[in-house]
Formats: sequence, structure tokens, C-alpha cells
Amino acid sequence: MKLKALILESTGYYREVLGKILSDIGLDCDIYSSSKEVLEAGKKIEYTFIIVSRYLDDTTAELFLHRYREKYPIANALTIMLTADDVHEIMLDANKAGFKLVFNKKDINSIQTFLTSVLNNRTLNLKGKILFIEDQASVAAATVALFENYQAEIEHVTNLDEAKEKFSNNDFDLVITDYYLKNNETGDDVINLVREFDDIGKARIPILVVSGEADQAKRTAFLRNGANDFIIKPFDDDELIVRSSNLIENKKIFEQAKKQQDELTKLAMTDQLTGLYNRHSLFDIGPRYLSDAKRHKFSVSLLVIDLDHFKNVNDTHGHAVGDVVLKAVGEVLNNNCRTEDLATRFGGEEFVMLLSHCDSEFAATKAEDLRQAIEESKPNDLTITASIGAASFDSADSFESLFEKADKAVYEAKETGRNKVILYRSD
Ligand code: GH3
Ligand code: MG
Ligand code: MG
Ligand code: MG
Repeated sequence: MKLKALILESTGYYREVLGKILSDIGLDCDIYSSSKEVLEAGKKIEYTFIIVSRYLDDTTAELFLHRYREKYPIANALTIMLTADDVHEIMLDANKAGFKLVFNKKDINSIQTFLTSVLNNRTLNLKGKILFIEDQASVAAATVALFENYQAEIEHVTNLDEAKEKFSNNDFDLVITDYYLKNNETGDDVINLVREFDDIGKARIPILVVSGEADQAKRTAFLRNGANDFIIKPFDDDELIVRSSNLIENKKIFEQAKKQQDELTKLAMTDQLTGLYNRHSLFDIGPRYLSDAKRHKFSVSLLVIDLDHFKNVNDTHGHAVGDVVLKAVGEVLNNNCRTEDLATRFGGEEFVMLLSHCDSEFAATKAEDLRQAIEESKPNDLTITASIGAASFDSADSFESLFEKADKAVYEAKETGRNKVILYRSD
């Protein structure tokens, strides 16, 4: 039976392109141009892919999916949103609305590659690495042969120790374990080995339990204990392959979604122009620095670095040159940032550095070094100077009060002639 895809796209050109891609890779497509047509078609179909364009003539993808789900079950469908916008910007909202993945429709190639790889797994070309724990040699040999027919890479071991050794030293996509092993070892031990593994990525690897256990309650217990699925012995070969394939495929989809999510987080934390952390990260990470400093009794200092007469740079040389200067200053800060420090672009032409294990004396020296490095950097042959306010954390400080102190100091540096460092003092 052919797998089915639903395409909902209001632009004729993309309807045609997508329809062609999907039929080329062997899918049966229902193609619609408006949400109304889909909802009124009244067809109950198990789609493998539901692909919806973000903006439709009569609604949005979010609203459509919401209404579609009210009418039809979509449990096993891979929901994909297509957009002409920046994928990263809308990913979070799309995920919330129930779309598992977002693709840019201008990048048809990546859609094609991705769908093909999903389908290859569906059509049972098991592209994955499997750890297989089975104590009975004859069963093991037959199962290994079965998986090798489907091009899967499968490593067979017979007990928990061997499993631990293999699991630690390899990256698997699936663990398949027999339930009753020798020496009173069981599938539960295997589940615990995986789920309690230090590396979180590995701890999430899907587990399929193979068991002769007919007792429903016991089978439920495997799942409760952390198995993703189970299969009863003697099992049907096709069923084992299909269940394994589904688990591997879900893992890969999860990884892809996680990768998108990580990129999004990184994007939200960094300043695009300089690559430094942004203001949002400073307020997120800064207070944690201070509570660590309090707990472990080390010093922390904060520098507010404000470029002098930066407006003149823009006015005289243009905004683009202003950007070059900001980038160059970002580089200076980055080069002078130890791993335990945090360099951020606070906004505009203002930068903030958090210096860990750094008392006021060291902060003043460090600030002076930075001031000189900025003056010497000469981006586009321009002499750029900065005023720097420094303050050191004392135990009564909150992050905000520490920041205020450094801000007062930088204000004083501006008032008294610029291109200098002022260390905050309580008087
Ligand atoms: P002061 O010495 O008192 O700090 O003077 P200033 O000119 O540096 O300070 P002011 O706050 O008056 O002006 C800051 C300027 O920074 C104004 C703004 O146009 C410019 N600016 C802010 N963000 C950017 C940016 O991303 N790129 C460029 N090129 N300029 C920016
Ligand atoms: Mg056994
Ligand atoms: Mg300034
Ligand atoms: Mg400023």
C-alpha cells in the first residue's frame, strides 16, 4: 500500500513542485489549495505527512492544524510547516501549534532530502545502529541475519556487562533486549543501564523489549520502567522490523527537532552583529554568576564599556562603517575574554563584561588593558575610544545593584573627559 501525504498550499507553483517531489519518492498525494477544501472533503485518511504552508488564502497553518485535529486523528503523521520566512524565527510558534518540523519552501532540495530519508526508513531500509542483547545463540543468529537483510548495523551481546561496554563506546540508534537473560539479569537491568547513563543524549535512546511474557501487567511494567515498545516472542519478523524502524525514525526526527531547537536557543542568546552574547543572556547568566560567587566566595567584577562619541562615527562615515567599528570592538572584547568571563553587547555601542574571580584591583587593570586595546584596534583606520566603568561585587549586591554601580562609574568617566577607566567607590 502506498503511503499518503496531504499538501495544503495556496500557491500553484509550490503545489506543483511539492506534488512532483512527493510522487517521485513514491507517495500518494492529496493536494489542496484552501483549508476549506480539506475540512469539507470529509476524508478520513491516515496521512504519513501533513505539509501545510504557513499562510493560506483562507487561514494560517496554525489555525488549520488546530481545526483539522478536531476532526481527524493525526497521531502518526509527520506534520511539517512550510514558510517563506526565516525558519528560526517561527519554529517555536510552529512547534507549539503542533508542527514537528519547519522548512523554508525556497529550499526545496532540503525538503526532498529529508522526506526521502524518512521514507527510506519507512520503506524499511533500516539505516541505524542497533545494540542487541540476547542470551540464546540460535535466536540471536536468526535476528542478526534478519536485520542485516535490511542493511541495519547490529551488534549482538549476550549479557549486561558486554552491553555496558558496547553501549559506552558506541552511539546506537536503538537498543533491543531480550527480557530474560542468564544469571538473573533482565531487560529491566538493560533499561536502567541506558536510562541512567550520564550522557543525556545516550540515555534517551529508544529501547525495544522482546519477551515471552504474556502477562499484560508485566508488559505494562516494561513500558513504565522506560522501554519504548515491546514485542512478544515468538514474534513475526515483519513486526520486529517495523517496530524497530519506527523507533529509529522517531529518534531521528527528535534529533532533527532538537537541533533546530538548539540553533534557536543559540540565536536568541547572541548578538547578530558581533557574535557576543546579548543583553538577554547577560540578565539570564549574570545573576547566576553572582550566586555562585556568593556561595563559593570568589570575587566578580562588572565593566560597562561605552564608546565615545560614537554618533560622530555614524554621522561622518555612515552607519555601515559604524557597524564595522562595533564588530571590531566586539572582537577586542572576545579576545580578552577568559572562559570564565562573559562578554556581551548590551545594546547600541555599549558593552558589558562580567569578570569572574576578579577583584576591584584586577578589574581596574583589566579595564585599562581593554581601553588601550580598543584605542589601538583602529578599525578602518579610525581611532575609537571608550569610557569604562568598573565595579566589584560585594555580598550585599544584587546583579542590578552591581550593574548600577558600574553604570555610575562610566557616567563619571564621560563627565570627566572620556577615554578613561573609573572604578566605582561608595563615596
Ligand atoms: P558618548 O560619548 O556620550 O557615549 O556619545 P555617543 O555618541 O557614543 O552616544 P550616544 O548614545 O549619543 O549615541 C550612540 C550612537 O550609537 C547612536 C546610534 O545611532 C548608534 N548606534 C546604536 N546601535 C548601532 C548599531 O547597531 N550600528 C551603528 N552603526 N550605530 C549604532
Ligand atoms: Mg533469554
Ligand atoms: Mg557612547
Ligand atoms: Mg551609550
